Amino acid sequence: MSNKSFERLMPQRSFGVFKMSKGSLTGYNFLYESPNCWRKFYLSKVLNLEPEHPPYYFPFGTAIHEGMEAFYSDGFDEAKLTTTFEDSMDESYKLFDREQFNELVSTGKSMINHWVNKWAEHDRRTYEVVETEVEHEKDLPNSHLFTFKIDRVLRNKETRVEYIFDTKTTQSSVTRTYHTARLGDQATAYLWGYEKAVAFVVDILYKKGRVTDCQRYEIVRTKQDIQAFLSSTMNKTEYISNAVAAVEQGGDPFFYFPRHGGYSCQFSCPFSDICRNNIPTSYVPVGFKRKEQ
Ligand code: SF4
Repeated sequence: MSNKSFERLMPQRSFGVFKMSKGSLTGYNFLYESPNCWRKFYLSKVLNLEPEHPPYYFPFGTAIHEGMEAFYSDGFDEAKLTTTFEDSMDESYKLFDREQFNELVSTGKSMINHWVNKWAEHDRRTYEVVETEVEHEKDLPNSHLFTFKIDRVLRNKETRVEYIFDTKTTQSSVTRTYHTARLGDQATAYLWGYEKAVAFVVDILYKKGRVTDCQRYEIVRTKQDIQAFLSSTMNKTEYISNAVAAVEQGGDPFFYFPRHGGYSCQFSCPFSDICRNNIPTSYVPVGFKRKEQ
């Protein structure tokens, strides 16, 4: 694919699809965030559209993650966890009405308190921090460069064994969140990409109504799991490269990135009002904005 000719089709260089030439970056989120519907993938990752008002759980999840990062990178500092969470939520204040905002802050603080009581001292005694929120990249066998960002890597002080930790906040169910991680490709991708770790630990913070819970589960992968992941990832990158090239040459985006109207539409798909429309690449539909790169 020629980058130049692609730019003619996509006047802003920031379009995600611009990155899909051989040897270019292919992020974990890029490939797996919208796996159920190619049309959603096209709108989100190729045209780079996102709703002006994202669902509440985006800024909320970000605030929890930023709090966790502060906790680990500032010497297991519990106060930093809470203040960083609050500061991050304050930045997205405009997205919520006052009642909803106060409820989210209260929910987050309750989750954090529960988590701190259960894990903060344990982690301080058990682990040393190897890294937090670091972008990694690694070559796929088909020459695409795969990128992924790990929440944190912790090393057991006694055994010297390293673990990848990933924070999940949920109102759904601890068990379902664990099984989603167990069955999905994220753990496989990260364990393939960061070979020094022996396991992927899903660190779950749950709150619904008055019930608060925190649980951790270790996920390990076999060589066969890794091989299966690589095969499907290479297949996806090849498909996307070819589809992008076809669209660049005038192919119909509906054909190369088809709708999957069904199961995944139910989960508050932000594109449900526009996904049947033919959207010119330079056009930003009302209620949407172009993602910053
Ligand atoms: S509403 Fe359904 S068909 Fe449309 S983009 Fe979303 S998941 Fe795909």
